[in-house]
Formats: sequence, C-alpha cells, structure tokens
Amino acid sequence: MLNNAKRIVIKIGSSLLIDERSGLREAWLLTLAEDVAALRRAGKQVAIVTSGAVALGRNPLGYDARALTLEEKQAAAACGQIALFSFWAQALAIVSLYPAQILLTADDSINRRRYLNARTTLEMLLASNRVIPVINENDTVATAELRFGDNDRLSARVAQMISADCLVLFSDIDGLYAADPRRNPAARFIEKVEAVTPEIEAMAAGAGSHIGTGGMATKLEAAKIALASGCHMAIASGMEMHPLTRLQENARATWFIAAESPKRARKRWIAGGLHPAGVLTVDAGAAEALRSGKSLLPAGVTAVEGSFERGDAVLIKDADGHIMGKGLSAYNAADALRIIGRKSAELEGILGFKGRATLIHRDDMVIDKN
Ligand code: GLU
Repeated sequence: MLNNAKRIVIKIGSSLLIDERSGLREAWLLTLAEDVAALRRAGKQVAIVTSGAVALGRNPLGYDARALTLEEKQAAAACGQIALFSFWAQALAIVSLYPAQILLTADDSINRRRYLNARTTLEMLLASNRVIPVINENDTVATAELRFGDNDRLSARVAQMISADCLVLFSDIDGLYAADPRRNPAARFIEKVEAVTPEIEAMAAGAGSHIGTGGMATKLEAAKIALASGCHMAIASGMEMHPLTRLQENARATWFIAAESPKRARKRWIAGGLHPAGVLTVDAGAAEALRSGKSLLPAGVTAVEGSFERGDAVLIKDADGHIMGKGLSAYNAADALRIIGRKSAELEGILGFKGRATLIHRDDMVIDKN
C-alpha cells in the first residue's frame, strides 16, 4: 500500500515524540526524518500531521500531568507549538528538508473558501522537493464546537483535502484488536478492514493511549473519512526506529483498504453531495473541450447565474441549456461575471489580482460525456 502510494499523510501521536520519563525522542525522530527523505527521493509526496504541542507546553506553564481544561490546553498548545515545530525543523534539516507550518481547525475543512485556500497552499508545498508540510490543529483559536480535538480525524481531513492515497496513523499501538489487548492479551489482531462496520467499532471501545487525546475510536472515525475519500489507511506502531521503512517492509499493522481511487471519490462527492449554487453556460467550443477532459476557461463561458462563493458547486450548461456537468467554481459569481469571455492573459488586469487561469479545474468537475 505504502509502496504504491503517491501522496502520503503521516500522523505522529504525542506519545511517539515525547517519552514521559526521558523527554523528547530525538534519535527516533531522526530515523523518521530519514524515512521521509527516502520516500521523497522515491518520488512520493509526504505531509506530516503532528501532535505534541499541548504536551510540550505543559512544563513552561507549570501544568503537571493532570487532565487539563480546554483553556489550559489552548494555552499549552500556544506555548508548545514553538518547541514542537523547532523539533521537527531540526530533524528535517539533517536530511536537507525544510518544514512548512500549517495550523488548521475543523472550520477550515467545512468552510469552502478556507478549505480551497488550505488545499491550494498544501498543493504548492507538496510540489516542492525540499519542503514538507507539517500540520497541527490550531488549538488556540479552535473553539469547542470547531475543534477536531484529536489529530486522528484532522489527519484524515488533510488526506481528503489533498486527495492523498495513503494515510498512516502512527501511535503506540500496532493496530486494531478484536478486544483491548491491554486487558485481554489473547485478543485477535485485525490485519485488514474494508469497511468500518458496527462490529469493527465495537472492537475499539475503550482502547486508548494516555499521552495523546486520540484512542481507537478516533482512529476508526479517521478510517471512515479516509475510506470515503478513496484513501487507504494504516494504524501502525511508530515506537520502533525507522517506522516507515518497517511499514514498507510489511511490519504488523491494520490496513483499511479503500474501494476506489481518491480522484473517483472526489468526483462522486462533487456529483452527488453538493447543492449547486449557480449556473455557468458555455459555448460550443468549451463544451467540446470539457467533454474531452479539459478544464473550463473563462473565455468559453457566455453567462453566469446565481450567487455563489469561490469553491461552491455550480452547474454547467451548454448553449442549448442542457445540463452537461457540475463543478467547483474557482471564482465567486461577481468575479466570474467580470472575466467570462475574456482571455486568461487579461484576467489579472480585470480583477486586480492574479487568480486562477481556469474557472473550473478539470479535477473539480464531473461532465456527462453524452
Ligand atoms: N493538537 C494537539 C497537540 O498538538 C494534539 C491532539 C491529539 O493528541 O490528537 O498537542
């Protein structure tokens, strides 16, 4: 799974970075950085989701090992994020990689405009061969309702956002068992899961680790998001040195196998799940280009209807008024109106900013080929 993947999200839990007695696990992190560098050299793109800000912020604030209130966690995260990030920066520098810090909230995956902005930034960073996006939740600004609260689900949202084909959740447990292995050492290990059924969910009840916030239940929530996005997912132990190399060499893990590709899952989501907020009518030339798989350029659009924001779904109609598809608009309705019929080179002069060349990118649309 990992060997065939092109775009991989790796989630590192707090308990891997921080040992309760000895502090930061620097030697281990360096082996992980070496693994990441090897994946990059093999042409794979990697994004990292890391926990640890709250744990690293406890000490300077004088919080001991007790459970923290939400306010205390937010303060600790603000404090610990700096230490966490410099820890990553140092490890990645040794393998000539450079981290880019991204802090997200649950709101960023719901609000379409912010979602698109985060997605575009991640795409830019992933295209670089020196930079690794290193992501955490923006704990300080995330209010109770708009928090992920655990990086398991955050990492699945990131995987979905960038259409990753593989998500690896590294933690202090090597996978899913039919019962909690800490209480029942004979519990059966589950190697492969194709759907997160109620039976699978029942297996996870109560199993958790105590430094981080996520337990098995949040990992299964992550698996549901990943599978629905066409992304394979692994729950694997990250405790040993070189955890990614070990996983590539078939170390024990629970693999959740997606039934379709991220691209198909995204197209299905666009086709089915989104209510269209407007209509773009295209000329005959554009209709032909769309049917042959091209993106929609402003020059081929003759009319804009509705009021929509950047990132909203719109219907695409041909000159006869037949609905020929649906897509996510790269511009809001007002800007779309100003640029239709115009050449890509003219856009910056009209808009006053350098926007996208396409009104709907081909990856963001579904077209009825008939
Ligand atoms: N965002 C939290 C932190 O960095 C971690 C959440 C989690 O443990 O999943 O400390």
